[in-house]
Amino acid sequence: MDSASAGLGLIDLHAHTNESDGTLTPAELINLAHQTGLDALAITDHDTFSGYEKARPFADTVKLNLVRGIELNTRMGRDSALKIHAVHLLAYFPVNEPTAAFTAWLENERLERRNRNEGLAKRLQGDGIDITLEDVESRGRSLAGRPHFARLLVEKGYARNSEEAFSKYLGETAPSFVPRQSKTAEEVIGIVRSAGGVPVIAHPVRLGLTRAEERELLLRYRRAGLLGLEIYHSEHPPELQAYYRQLAEELQLLPTGGSDFHGAIKPDIQLGTGRNRNIRVPARFLEDMRGIRTPDAPRRIERA
Ligand code: AMP
Ligand code: ZN
Ligand code: FE
Ligand code: FE
Repeated sequence: MDSASAGLGLIDLHAHTNESDGTLTPAELINLAHQTGLDALAITDHDTFSGYEKARPFADTVKLNLVRGIELNTRMGRDSALKIHAVHLLAYFPVNEPTAAFTAWLENERLERRNRNEGLAKRLQGDGIDITLEDVESRGRSLAGRPHFARLLVEKGYARNSEEAFSKYLGETAPSFVPRQSKTAEEVIGIVRSAGGVPVIAHPVRLGLTRAEERELLLRYRRAGLLGLEIYHSEHPPELQAYYRQLAEELQLLPTGGSDFHGAIKPDIQLGTGRNRNIRVPARFLEDMRGIRTPDAPRRIERA
């Protein structure tokens, strides 16, 4: 056996390749998952299946259970009381392939992302920063994102590190922030369900809401067809993991978990184990997800 931890029944349902903003190639990620002894891995690149598709043959070679996933940008939507905020939605296709309509819709999402990138580059140029969209795009593969802007800003000496690039130029509170024209989470949940996917709210800690607001929002999303909640994540401390585990059970949402591994741009996060070994995602989570058939039997977990 080439791994110390093989057979422990641990999986990772949230990881990025360099087809979005991770740094490992799909083949390298599969090798790492295999070396780590993971029983299953979901590749959840932003807005693209390209990393998953490139990884597929390598996963087959090492007999790694690879799950098709994706991470989508949405916005919180209509609530005036709550801050308008980005909501990351994970979508999994553990059983069915996505529909052609969904793949076409993704194409639109990538165009919209490119428009945002173009706007952001212009905005930064307007502020006297020497940056071009071509430069940024040369850093990415299938798609470029703000982490690629961050790398360039650091290389050019406009920021000391990625955190500073986000706080000064790229983040939601920076003056030059350019938002994406995303659909609401409820709309995207509907789109994922129609495509036969399993929609899951990613890293709920980042919603930045009080527990009451968060619960309310999750109930609303569940009415729109939400099926899961990411309870284990590198940014969730142990108490919060326990809290989300209970919340998922109470709201009858599938519990999921993953490291949100990005490779060298987030060096403190390890595939499978998260930050300082703070996560352990049981293989049962994937079995439960497979047990949910969409869209033909979505009502199975609906409240009585
Ligand atoms: P984009 O999808 O192009 O809007 O970029 C969003 C990505 O940027 C997220 O998925 C994170 O990986 C990264 N990101 C967001 N905020 C920060 C931050 N403050 N510091 C470092 N990375 C960030
Ligand atoms: Zn990312
Ligand atoms: Fe995310
Ligand atoms: Fe992610």
